[in-house]
Amino acid sequence: MIDPWSSTSLDYEKLVQKFGIKPFKDLLDELEAPHPLMRRGIIFGHRDYGRIIKAIREKQDYAVVSGMMPSGKMHIGHKMIVDQLVWYQKNNAHIYIPIADMESYSARGLDFESSRQLALSEYITNYLALGLDFNTPKIKVYLQSKNHTVSDLAYKLAKKVNFNEMKAIYGFNGSSNLAHLYVPLIQVADILHPQLEEFDGPKPTVVPVGPDQDPHIRLTRDIADRFKSTYNFISPSSTYHRLMAGLTGGKMSSSQPKTAIFLSDTPEEAERKIKTGKTGGRESLKDQAERGGVPEDCVIYEMLLYHLLDSDEKLQKIKRECKQGTLMCGECKNISAELVRDFFQDFSKKREKAKKMADKVLVEY
Ligand code: SF4
Repeated sequence: MIDPWSSTSLDYEKLVQKFGIKPFKDLLDELEAPHPLMRRGIIFGHRDYGRIIKAIREKQDYAVVSGMMPSGKMHIGHKMIVDQLVWYQKNNAHIYIPIADMESYSARGLDFESSRQLALSEYITNYLALGLDFNTPKIKVYLQSKNHTVSDLAYKLAKKVNFNEMKAIYGFNGSSNLAHLYVPLIQVADILHPQLEEFDGPKPTVVPVGPDQDPHIRLTRDIADRFKSTYNFISPSSTYHRLMAGLTGGKMSSSQPKTAIFLSDTPEEAERKIKTGKTGGRESLKDQAERGGVPEDCVIYEMLLYHLLDSDEKLQKIKRECKQGTLMCGECKNISAELVRDFFQDFSKKREKAKKMADKVLVEY
């Protein structure tokens, strides 16, 4: 069982084999300009992504659904999702962004108004600053608690789901609160509602997630099949991305500040933090020169790979020189610190601008 509320470390290869997730690399040639996260293997798996590629190539309608749960500050690992949304926007997708205030309430005890405030001041602000365009009817951002179409659909879909199934998928037990138990049905409706007739559905839909969210995807696909004759749903597709390591080498987490560079950090803070990152370097310079470093086990390299270096050539050069023992971690950290400072200098200006626009993007329906 992968538990969406508590998963930490995951073996990506095993997931692909055990749960029938297909390798993304097999589809790369079919995309004209794949996102760097796809090219670099960070997006490693998919379910039924072929129908999304077809929609992109044939310029047909398709939707991307990507929720956010307001629960703390966004860190640089979260940027990956927004980068994907920006790419989908350039590829003509309809984008739906549910703000999971109902999940925040049932799983984290956050009241709806606090969720709304946090979503606007932190999440939406960052989404805007990272380049997502909200000035188009093809994007919808909504609070789950205010979306009656979604809650009506969730209620109807719940008719064909039973408690034993929820227990088996999510590990619920006799003392689980009923609000928490209902939340996955809201998420299923978040994913499926763009396919309703009133949104010109059915249409292919993709959900980009971390592998820990796969239980939601499997449940959603099952329910879509159960209601096929009623709504003619197309089983939603999904992509799976690796989760970035934290600065200390474990999980990057908003609740453990030492592990994370936050998107609200100043350029100086971000630069200082990256220099504390765990490297894949050897114990001494001599040892590193002889045996080379281990970029596969290095947080600094991950930062470059996921976020800081657009050029594949430059990235490969760093990897090669690290492995050959001609690049030392001190120098490599200096290169990364400069890149992170440049990024945050630009980004903090964009954030200031975005703050003034964030409260205008929410829709209700
Ligand atoms: Fe990591 Fe760079 Fe050191 Fe290699 S040289 S282990 S990539 S910090």
